[in-house]
Amino acid sequence: MQSRRKFLAGAATVGAIGLAPALSGCASTARSAAGKGKVVIVGAGYGGSTAAKYIREWSNNGISVTVIEPGDAFISCPISNLVIAGAKSMQDITTSYDNLRQRHGVTWVKSTVEGIDPAGHTVKLANGDTLGYDKLVLSPGIDLMFDQVKGLLAARDEGKILQSMKAGPETMALRRQIEALPDGGVFALTVPLAPYRCPPGPYERATLVAAYFKQHKPRSKVLIFDSNDKVQSKEPLFKKAWAEQYKGMVEYIPDHKVVGVNTARMELEFEVNDPVKADVLNVIPPQRAGIIAQRTGLANMNARWCGVDYMTFESAVHKDIHVLGDSIQLSPLMPKSGHMANQHAKVAAAAIIAMLYDQPVNPHPVVMNTCYSMVNFKEAIHVATVHQYDAEKKTFLTVPGSGGISAGPSEIEATYADAWAHNIWRDTLS
Ligand SMILES: Cc1cc2nc3c(=O)[nH]c(=O)nc-3n(C[C@H](O)[C@H](O)[C@H](O)COP(=O)(O)OP(=O)(O)OC[C@H]3O[C@@H](n4cnc5c(N)ncnc54)[C@H](O)[C@@H]3O)c2cc1C
Repeated sequence: MQSRRKFLAGAATVGAIGLAPALSGCASTARSAAGKGKVVIVGAGYGGSTAAKYIREWSNNGISVTVIEPGDAFISCPISNLVIAGAKSMQDITTSYDNLRQRHGVTWVKSTVEGIDPAGHTVKLANGDTLGYDKLVLSPGIDLMFDQVKGLLAARDEGKILQSMKAGPETMALRRQIEALPDGGVFALTVPLAPYRCPPGPYERATLVAAYFKQHKPRSKVLIFDSNDKVQSKEPLFKKAWAEQYKGMVEYIPDHKVVGVNTARMELEFEVNDPVKADVLNVIPPQRAGIIAQRTGLANMNARWCGVDYMTFESAVHKDIHVLGDSIQLSPLMPKSGHMANQHAKVAAAAIIAMLYDQPVNPHPVVMNTCYSMVNFKEAIHVATVHQYDAEKKTFLTVPGSGGISAGPSEIEATYADAWAHNIWRDTLS
């Protein structure tokens, strides 16, 4: 049993950021952490790493946390478009997990979860081990639906057509393809039907590739084929940047759904339009919740995304499994973003601690999102939203009058974008 002083210190931290004020003063009824406080976290990306840190910190290390993650280090998708465009390195977007292990006492298992038994409260790992849990946190990111684009899986396996929607070796592989493209060549990127990971991400990537072309291959072109009928985020700002900074270089083509690829001819095949040829094809297929969520039957929304109780992020399908980040069915106007995954994790961390200590869960969680996009190597734009849980409607609603969008690209916002990335990495991993 923890001391009252220690537990209150943790609870005060939670209360201070407004996530679970109801926790304060709950030490008298707290159950033994040894008996009730074992949390297993699947995936140490934006959602899972944040949950690991804050469950430890806000329970004053009273709850044991084990993370299962196959990767050696945290590699960030935010800022990875700058790596693809040649302005940042892989080192710039990579952070060690050491602080989670050493400073926060998180138990680390380098492996993959292959199966979950929700009734038995156990997970089965690729290394053969089985672990029990009181609460399971699942933040496995996305699964790319290669079967939706004919020929894409083989093209990806041969290294010919890449996605780079998970930062890592593919980030540099796409960079090398763009570097090898001759001056006068064509880079074509496809955007899947929403919802998908990071609504502005593909448009930012196309814009930064154009920024690279403008400096090094000025006769080259960028084509954006969008399955949607319009740009999915910061539309007026991206369109203005393409018209004013990349006139004649970036072409945006809406309502073009790619259904196949031909690597011999390096062509995109569309649902209704003629095929288009390019030197580098960056084909981003539709997406769904991470494979382990599908396999566990948690993806109950259109067989793609996981429904959750937004007050706790507990799965709508299985008790004691909390799903975070890109895998979930989001409430209206919530993007699939690293910032959102970080916020889901904090709400879930506070709720999990409250549930394990038999305390009421904060009924009014508030989360926010700010998403920066670079439009060249010096200027950025942003969109911000604030979302409050509505107990009656059982969903998050945007707070009237909150948030907003940049008036236009600016250098000051590029410094904010860089600061945002360093702040969230520190918040999540240090
Ligand atoms: C190009 C690009 C740019 C982006 N820019 C931004 C931005 O500027 N701002 C922003 O907020 N967001 C941005 N995003 C979106 C952001 O990266 C995602 O929304 C975020 O990573 C989602 O977090 P997550 O925890 O759901 O998944 P992830 O961060 O992808 O983490 C999932 C983790 O789970 C692990 N995992 C998966 N399955 C298993 C398993 N079975 N067992 C064990 N581990 C497993 C994976 O190895 C991975 O480490 C961008 C994305 C892209 C692709």
